[in-house]
Amino acid sequence: MQNITVELVDESQTVRMGQKLAACIKAPMTIYFEGDLGAGKTTLIRGILRGFGYQGATKSPTYTLVEPYELVGVSIYHFDLYRLADPEELEFIGIREYQQPDSIMLIEWPEKGLGMIPQADLMIELDYNNDGRVVTLSSANSQIMQKLEKSCD
Ligand code: ADP
Ligand code: MG
Repeated sequence: MQNITVELVDESQTVRMGQKLAACIKAPMTIYFEGDLGAGKTTLIRGILRGFGYQGATKSPTYTLVEPYELVGVSIYHFDLYRLADPEELEFIGIREYQQPDSIMLIEWPEKGLGMIPQADLMIELDYNNDGRVVTLSSANSQIMQKLEKSCD
């Protein structure tokens, strides 16, 4: 299945993209967010949370590793593993307990937690593109890709 690539010319488009993504995802699901610092991973996650009805502020859990959002019918866990020194540290925060049938795991810097985090159902990469960004979506699950193709074009 081919990747989906979408240009995001400014921050508001990144947020809107996140809102569209929210319509395509449902628990249980794990999504990896890849891309350099400042590429827009947290911004996109803010959009996803908006799409699930959360209007409050989104903190970047750089020091706490995870920020939980207990929403109606779904628990969204936003991980930022940037400062993780050793994947084993995830054992101490009880990473396994976050994986429930009603959980969506949104993981920034998944490469720092490999071996300890669930496999990704969807991978999202953000890259710099002139003054804006470009996002690439990929999944081995063809149902997910079809849904994304319909709503994210
Ligand atoms: P990351 O989590 O990848 O480190 P953040 O989302 O925290 O990145 O920050 C990204 C920065 O880029 C923010 O200042 C945000 O306003 C900006 N930004 C997000 N999307 C875009 C875009 N499509 N075009 C230009 N700037 C963007
Ligand atoms: Mg971030």
